Amino acid sequence: MATASLRIDLDAVRANWRALDAMTTSATESGAVVKADSYGLGGAQVARLLARAGCRKFFVAVAEEGAAIRQALGEGPEIFVFSGHMAGDTEMIGDLGLIPMLNSVEQVTRHLEALPGAPFGVQLDTGMNRLGMEAAEWQAVAPMLLGANPKLIMSHLACSDEPDHPMNAQQLAAFRAMTDGIAVPRSLSATGGILLGPDYHFDVTRPGIGMYGGAPFTKAAPVVTLSLPVIQIRDVAAGETVGYGNTWTAEQECRIATVAAGYADGVTRHLSNAAMLYHGATHCPMRGRVSMDLITADVTHLTEVPKSLDLICPHQGIDVLADIAGTIGYEILTSLGPRYSRHYTGGPA
Ligand SMILES: *Cc1c(COP(=O)(O)O)cnc(C)c1O
Repeated sequence: MATASLRIDLDAVRANWRALDAMTTSATESGAVVKADSYGLGGAQVARLLARAGCRKFFVAVAEEGAAIRQALGEGPEIFVFSGHMAGDTEMIGDLGLIPMLNSVEQVTRHLEALPGAPFGVQLDTGMNRLGMEAAEWQAVAPMLLGANPKLIMSHLACSDEPDHPMNAQQLAAFRAMTDGIAVPRSLSATGGILLGPDYHFDVTRPGIGMYGGAPFTKAAPVVTLSLPVIQIRDVAAGETVGYGNTWTAEQECRIATVAAGYADGVTRHLSNAAMLYHGATHCPMRGRVSMDLITADVTHLTEVPKSLDLICPHQGIDVLADIAGTIGYEILTSLGPRYSRHYTGGPA
């Protein structure tokens, strides 16, 4: 079989969620962000695991994701939709009891007219200029909205992965100015904000990447292992080249393994001639360009013929790969392709 195997350690996801939860007091409830199919790791599997671990608040980007999570979880847990109430979402929101985080006066009007009495939350912009009502808009609709009993008021930090960035305190002050004294649960922090400390925790947190084993939660347990089957091994003579564009030339005789994954599986070409594959703890440098379905790596120094090589493993985690590729762990995870066979370990407790 030439499909690569993606192992997802559900015990590690749960341990990471609990570790982040333990950083806040019991006055703060830990939610979980399961948007984008739980960052590519399996929306339903992760959501069910966390629900069993005690999570009662789930966050998704769009209503369709909320529908899938509702199907996985059944009735009970709250599912908040960051993009709010978009035209065409009314039926899904109403039938499945999703909670739109209303982002604008337009969305407020749509929600209250289409689904009077249905739950909703409010998203405020505190400086990121991405989603949410700004101070003036909020001031205009706050009296009316607060009368309709919002479930949650939230905003989002732009620079929480840089603890010393002045934007953090600035956004905290803006959030407080807009919400202090209001008797509605408040949420400001994703993973980065949780690490900033108690001032940022409020009533509900929204961790995502930390649960999935990524920075800025550097103490996270690794969640993902990606093993790529070896299809062929060949000897390459000194002076010969490997791969498209002849970007790598053998200086001496060597052995090259060809493994089954490529940029069609989310392995970006930026890793070409730069990242490693691993045989256990032994690294095998990528040689030549990553192609659509194949990667080539140097296995000259291995004492046995490997059946597979790991691209993501404890020796080369998602943040190491991200650094090499000039991106972030989030993008490495959400790029993991549909061709991988996904295997879950751990889980129900
Ligand atoms: C994605 C997202 C989160 C989760 O962020 P992480 O950095 O992955 O913890 C929380 N809140 C909002 C609004 C988001 O878009």
